[in-house]
Parts: sequence; structure tokens; C-alpha cells
Amino acid sequence: MVFAKERRVKLKSEIKSGFIKTLDFFLPRFCTGCDNKLSVEENFLCDSCFEDLEYLTDRQLFNYFDEFFPPGSPVNAFYSILPYDIYLPARKIVHALKYEGRVQFSKLIAKIIVSSKYFESYYSENSILIPIPLNKVKKIERGFNQTELICKEISKLTGIEVSSSVLLRNKFTDTQTKKTKEARILNLANAFTIADKKANIIQNREVIVFDDVITTGATINAAAAVLGKYSNEPVKALSFAVTL
Ligand SMILES: [Zn+2]
Repeated sequence: MVFAKERRVKLKSEIKSGFIKTLDFFLPRFCTGCDNKLSVEENFLCDSCFEDLEYLTDRQLFNYFDEFFPPGSPVNAFYSILPYDIYLPARKIVHALKYEGRVQFSKLIAKIIVSSKYFESYYSENSILIPIPLNKVKKIERGFNQTELICKEISKLTGIEVSSSVLLRNKFTDTQTKKTKEARILNLANAFTIADKKANIIQNREVIVFDDVITTGATINAAAAVLGKYSNEPVKALSFAVTL
């Protein structure tokens, strides 16, 4: 019986790889990093680009922690994986996901995060992942919230619980980019609320608030401030990348 089941699984994967082989013949897939043709086993990023990814160093992580989360910040731990800059793979991957709507790239991002050096020691059974919500207009325009997709993929790989209904984004009447830095921070301070009926989900839990890319830390600090009030535990921050 077990044998039969295994055989079926094997057959299924053979059919799948045969299918991909045929597809690759007519419609080759290319690596996001180097534009070389991908093999049947590879997805989005070729093995050599995956191995060559340049992770943020410990020193960079320390420095960014100090910069983004100075004393008084509600965030007490921070982890991020890749530098984000023009020509770097992290930017290409995030762009493909956010602006080309290639939602399957959320799997690649989750894989990179989960297989990174410190991730395994960054969460526990008491952790809950909270993606930064998009404002409603943006979510409708884009059709999805990329941080939510990535968190769900991380959860599939690790079993960490995810909730995207606890943290809500308040309505904005004007866009952030037109404001001065001070006005932006003030504006952000009121950007998030906790859904009353869902607040118990995070009570006494170690909240890990997730954003795809951190640029100034203002967004994630604003979110952590409201999350920390309800969780009664220190809040951790996690991102896929950090703007250089
Ligand atoms: Zn490549």
C-alpha cells in the first residue's frame, strides 16, 4: 500500500517534470538573477544565483537595527535577509511580485527567508506573523497584498501562525510621498489599528511584524506600536530586504 502510494507520487512528479520539460521547450523560463535558461528543477532563480545571493552581514544588521529602531522604539529585535538596491536580485524579485503581479515569487521570497542563517532561531511556538497591511485602494489596484502572500508561504514552510486580520490600515486621504519627513512620521503614527474582535489572537504572543522592504523603519515602528499594546510582549520586526 505504502509502495503504491509512493509510486503514485513518483509518477505524479514524473508527469509534472515531463510537463515542465515540454513547456520549457516551447516557452523557456529564465532566471530572475542572471537571465540564463532555468533547468526543469529550478524555479525563478537558478541554483548558482541562489547560492551567490549576498546576504546582509551581521554588522549591517546591527547598524540597521540602531538606525531603524532607536531607544524608545516598540521593536526589540530585527532580522532581514538581503540588501535592496538597483541591479540586486532582491529588487528584481520584489518588483516581479509587486509590479508584474507574478505572485508565485512570494514562494521564492519565503524560501530565501526560511533558509537564511538566523531564521530558525528567530521564532518560537509562541510566535505569530503579522504582515503589514496595504491600504485598501492599493490592495484593490494590485489585487493582492504581497506581505500577506509571503507570510502565508513562510507559514507553509515552517508552521508559524499568520494572521492578516488583526492589524488594519486606516484610510489615507493623501499620499505619503508629498509630505515632509516629520509630517510623514506623524501621519504614520495613526496609520494602523487593531481589529477589536481579533485582538485576543495576539494576546501574550510574540508578534513578528513583517514587511517586504524596510526603507526608514517608520511604517514597521508604527505598526509595532499598536501591536505591542495588545500583545503585552516585545515585538520583533522581520523583512525580506533593506534599502541600501
Ligand atoms: Zn541565475
